[in-house]
Amino acid sequence: MTLLDGKKISNDIKDEIAAEVQQMKSRGERVPHLAAVIVGSDGASLTYVGSKVRACERVGFESTLKQLPESTSEAELLELVAALNADPEIDGYIVQLPLPKHIDEQKVLMAVHPDKDVDGFHPANFGKMALELETFISATPFGIIELLQRYGVETSGKHAVVIGRSHIVGRPISILLSQKGPAGNATVTLAHSRTSNLPELCRQADIIVSALGVPKFLKADMVKEGVVVIDVGITRVPDPSRERGYYICGDVDFEGVSPKASYITPVPGGVGPMTIAMLLKNTLLARQRHGGRG
Ligand code: NAD
Repeated sequence: MTLLDGKKISNDIKDEIAAEVQQMKSRGERVPHLAAVIVGSDGASLTYVGSKVRACERVGFESTLKQLPESTSEAELLELVAALNADPEIDGYIVQLPLPKHIDEQKVLMAVHPDKDVDGFHPANFGKMALELETFISATPFGIIELLQRYGVETSGKHAVVIGRSHIVGRPISILLSQKGPAGNATVTLAHSRTSNLPELCRQADIIVSALGVPKFLKADMVKEGVVVIDVGITRVPDPSRERGYYICGDVDFEGVSPKASYITPVPGGVGPMTIAMLLKNTLLARQRHGGRG
């Protein structure tokens, strides 16, 4: 069994990006600038945004954190989005999800200029991704593809089962795995909450990407020998014995499944760090593609 070490690979990617930033600096160019918008004070969201901002510092990017109160109206948030779209100093930005219930998430994501949409959530970018055109691929599926590629995991001709059909993970990774190209050419089954024979499908899978958010959902008796397992799940499970009061758990029963797997991602330290590295990569691409607009 080989561990797909997202922590190590993400550090390699960050080193590559940092070297690129150094070169930009030595040429006297402006470095990439990522902004992050967060509305409210959800603990997990604050942790994610904090990690993203720290990662920017680590590679030499500029970063700006816009933290707005929970009471922010949709109109106020849209105003900030318009200002970020117009700001020539900002190469890309993200609006951390979920947003408070009184704000229409889709409306906000649609307002992000596609050229600055480093999360790849805008329909124009999602559509380009589906058509295999150059775009921003959402950081989590992009990270999974990168991890598979860097470990030389064969996907061509394999049967991949993706569990979960969300717009940010399941659906895009199912499209990418089936495309022509690196870490593609797989035959993909996209499973979801209405799938009736999931254990049977999983037992036929050469590759399983689990993105449903149910701790230890995928058990040893649901996988075949030699399976490649990508665990996207991140669930905070309450645990009073820990200082933080919780621990992070993936979708996969790692203890049971890993002895049967040829490759497997750990949680934490698998897909999570890759997601952040690919967000940085998209920001660098935004800087390079648009040359800083204005
Ligand atoms: P979501 O909650 O939007 O969707 C879950 C999907 O799982 C749905 O499509 C649903 O149909 C499917 N599902 C639910 N129960 C099922 C069942 N019993 N059988 C089959 N399918 C079932 O999910 P999301 O936003 O894609 O997130 C999924 C998980 O991945 C969460 O734990 C989330 O925290 C994590 N996540 C991790 C990263 C990362 O960087 N590692 C990024 C995004 C999301």
